[in-house]
Amino acid sequence: MPARRGFECRNCHKSVKYAAWGTKNRNHCPYCLFSLHVDLNRGDRMSPCGGLMKPVGKIQRPDGEEMLVHKCEFCGIVRKNRIAGDDLAEIVEILPLMDYF
Ligand SMILES: [Zn+2]
Ligand SMILES: [Zn+2]
Repeated sequence: MPARRGFECRNCHKSVKYAAWGTKNRNHCPYCLFSLHVDLNRGDRMSPCGGLMKPVGKIQRPDGEEMLVHKCEFCGIVRKNRIAGDDLAEIVEILPLMDYF
């Protein structure tokens, strides 16, 4: 497992820096917002799945913060993720707003 120095996005193949404004634990691509199913619990990188996680929507927390909703295309798990400071706003914008869960 490489050190936390960024990754190449498996969906759009851009290279992604690990550090980002507004997040300490980047887990998705800022350009297409795809993520990878690598965590069993947040940040542990222990999942054997490794599937591509597609951004399927966004939710608004009770405190007003918007979060992305990702769904794994391989196993179907659904996860909430914080939006990073450099995520492309145009892409976040077009995601459907989902009910908070
Ligand atoms: Zn990407
Ligand atoms: Zn998965």
